[in-house]
Amino acid sequence: MIKLPNKFEYGHLKYEIVGVPEMNSSDDGSSLGGEHRQHEGRIFIITNSNHTPEYIRMVLLHEILHAISKAQGLGLEENQVSGLAFGFIQALQQNTWMGEFFT
Ligand SMILES: [Zn+2]
Repeated sequence: MIKLPNKFEYGHLKYEIVGVPEMNSSDDGSSLGGEHRQHEGRIFIITNSNHTPEYIRMVLLHEILHAISKAQGLGLEENQVSGLAFGFIQALQQNTWMGEFFT
């Protein structure tokens, strides 16, 4: 089972990252692998054995992008967040220098 990081900080925002075995659907009815709740300061990620480590990593990045979108006032749509998360992971995997170069 993948070990999640404990926290995500962005500017003055601080999120606790919480692994949960399952979660109810969101308000808009979409089924989720995770959820970010700014008012609670928590990001929930489903980490049950049905989900591969690759999927869980993508879900965490997806939720982080939601948090950044909100903090920056971007108002990104769900499909934009999904596309960016998928694309960013693919870029990182094809360009291993990126992780070190941008930190
Ligand atoms: Zn989403």
